[in-house]
Amino acid sequence: MRWGDMRRSENVEDRGGMSGGGGRMPLGGGMKIGGGTLVLLVILGLVFGVNPLQVLGMAGPDVGAPAPAPSMPAPSSSGSGAPAPSDTRKDFSARVIGDTEDVWGALFKAMGSDRYPPTTLTLYRGAVRSGCGNATAAAGPFYCPADSRVYLDTSFFDELSRRFGAPGDFAQAYVIAHEVGHHVQNITGTMQKFDRQSQGLNERQRNALSIRLELQADCYAGVWGYFAQKRNLLEPGDLEEGLRAAAAVGDDTIMKRTQGYVVPDAMNHGTSEQRMRWFKTGLASGDPRACDTFSVAQP
Ligand SMILES: [Zn+2]
Repeated sequence: MRWGDMRRSENVEDRGGMSGGGGRMPLGGGMKIGGGTLVLLVILGLVFGVNPLQVLGMAGPDVGAPAPAPSMPAPSSSGSGAPAPSDTRKDFSARVIGDTEDVWGALFKAMGSDRYPPTTLTLYRGAVRSGCGNATAAAGPFYCPADSRVYLDTSFFDELSRRFGAPGDFAQAYVIAHEVGHHVQNITGTMQKFDRQSQGLNERQRNALSIRLELQADCYAGVWGYFAQKRNLLEPGDLEEGLRAAAAVGDDTIMKRTQGYVVPDAMNHGTSEQRMRWFKTGLASGDPRACDTFSVAQP
């Protein structure tokens, strides 16, 4: 991917590590969650969820940590304290976010909508305080609707390559674009609709609805990819990298690897086949309207 040609966004906050602040922050600090939920949270997070607490219907004004201190600009040189994401990764992430801003900004305009309000990408190491509660790197990248931010521990890029077998810059860009897809769902009201519809559903039904939300975010990631390709920002092998990543984070693939078998009712992000298919749908059309995963009988 020719990411060096993408515009660098200003909407990136580098929080570095937490140890420079108020000491270590355990997962769930301030939140009472049981062991079963914890496992579920981690699994949800690993496959780049929207904020897992939101999906579980647990998010509310009470679960959040105190508001984070006003953000400081990232130090330009290596300062004291916890290590910050490497400059290359930060630059990469800022440019991918910048490119999603350009693409979604143009799409919003073309669809006659208001200005596209950008998300802020929050880079961290280890643990982070979000508007949706505390999280550790184990949760994986996530989007928090309450503060409209994407949270990313850049060590996840290593995970993607080593544990998920999906290396490459376009695989990493897909992850970011998927989270931006959740942001689009938030500002267009889809996420609010999802929350309303989730009320009163049993777990199986809620998972089925969650899959539609996740597949739409995959499709939106593909829409971004369509325009990256159209502007010659992709290189040979990039699309394969993205598809490999979409397959690697399919529920069935993860379940098979982690527990040796698949529980269809427990899926909440979609199978590898579904995730690749919807990513491709976005890639082929470049049209967000092609991403209506909620209307089709079988997503
Ligand atoms: Zn997601």
